[in-house]
Amino acid sequence: MIELIPQTQADREGLNPMLVQSVSPYLNPAHVLSPPRDWLEAMVQGDIPWPLFRLRYKNMLWKRFRRDPAPFYRILEASEGHRKLYLSCHCLTSVCHREIARDFLTLLRASPDYRRWREERPSLWALPFHPAGLVEHPMARA
Ligand SMILES: [Zn+2]
Repeated sequence: MIELIPQTQADREGLNPMLVQSVSPYLNPAHVLSPPRDWLEAMVQGDIPWPLFRLRYKNMLWKRFRRDPAPFYRILEASEGHRKLYLSCHCLTSVCHREIARDFLTLLRASPDYRRWREERPSLWALPFHPAGLVEHPMARA
């Protein structure tokens, strides 16, 4: 399950940082869901209307996805079933690109390609030993 949360609330509630991904182009410009900073600034200044931003951003996500689907699939995997993943941002606008990102991810989750990726992926958590260099899985802490 993917939830949207303001960064300030994530900080205040002390959410496990492993479960919160900032998709702000200011805090985390390298994130696969972060739009270019100047697009958001143009929107705040009124130079780009929301529907145009939406279109451009969705296009950008498709391009990134076609280049490398794995980061998108990993987000989906980390938010399967009851697992919660929070996308955070601090927005200056009344609308946030995270809503578009979540719709995009919902679409991907339903795709046969994603299901195939999951089936073909070895289950890391079934391994008898925790290979060095693997990031600790958030569920392993609970
Ligand atoms: Zn935002």
